Amino acid sequence: MIYLALVFVLAVIMFSYKYAWWKPAIDWKRPRVLMYHMVREHIDGAKFNKLRVKPAEFDKQVAWMKEQGFHFVTMQELQQNWGKHPDKTVAITFDDGYLDNLEHAFPILEKYQAKATIYVVVDRHERDWSTYKKAHHNSGELAREPKLSDEQIQVLAKSGLIEIGSHTLTHANLAKLNDQECFDELLQSKQQLEQMTGQQVTSFAYPFGIYSQRDVEIAKQAGYLNAVTTIEGIDAEQPDFMQLKRIKVSGKDSMFAVKLRMKLGKRA
Ligand SMILES: [Zn+2]
Repeated sequence: MIYLALVFVLAVIMFSYKYAWWKPAIDWKRPRVLMYHMVREHIDGAKFNKLRVKPAEFDKQVAWMKEQGFHFVTMQELQQNWGKHPDKTVAITFDDGYLDNLEHAFPILEKYQAKATIYVVVDRHERDWSTYKKAHHNSGELAREPKLSDEQIQVLAKSGLIEIGSHTLTHANLAKLNDQECFDELLQSKQQLEQMTGQQVTSFAYPFGIYSQRDVEIAKQAGYLNAVTTIEGIDAEQPDFMQLKRIKVSGKDSMFAVKLRMKLGKRA
């Protein structure tokens, strides 16, 4: 009996340590930027299921935000109106430009009238960015995922709910490029996406979350006004708009874990 009680206490301590549920929420005045990739069912034995949030889970997450009174904004809106947003402002973002963003995520966003930003890789078809290391180390898992066509991106851009941002021309590892190559990746992707959508592209996401101070400067020179990283957290009241933090939503997170991450920015 005592043994059982001890096991129970230990389990509670471990659970509490993992989730830090007792910590107070970071001020809800500070907007949350959520990072997603795909919204689709998992693939048995696949390496990247963390990047695949199941449609039913995504629906639950957006429904919960709606019910809690969250105010949904695009990244442009987030940056332009920084400091003037109501409490519980959230920017949902998707990296890479997967087809399921239109097929599965968009109907859910429409249902709850929730805005989002999709960071598109211009040359995205058949390209593998499963790792930033050498291509022959890649499994091809992400290359096999269908991507949005240009026409589908236009449909999303015209919907009034979706902002299209850039994720470079080729999902480049910026650390491997010289200044000119880096500038070309950032500027040409911006121009091509602007041509495609007929809208200004001022939001950017660093591929693999890899960037340096040089890349921040180049992003500014290329005309971007805000950029997101993969640094986990919730930004302070006066953020660096070219190095915004995000909250990762994993395909393996329970609703409980998602709520806690939105509250605290990351796991304890
Ligand atoms: Zn990416």
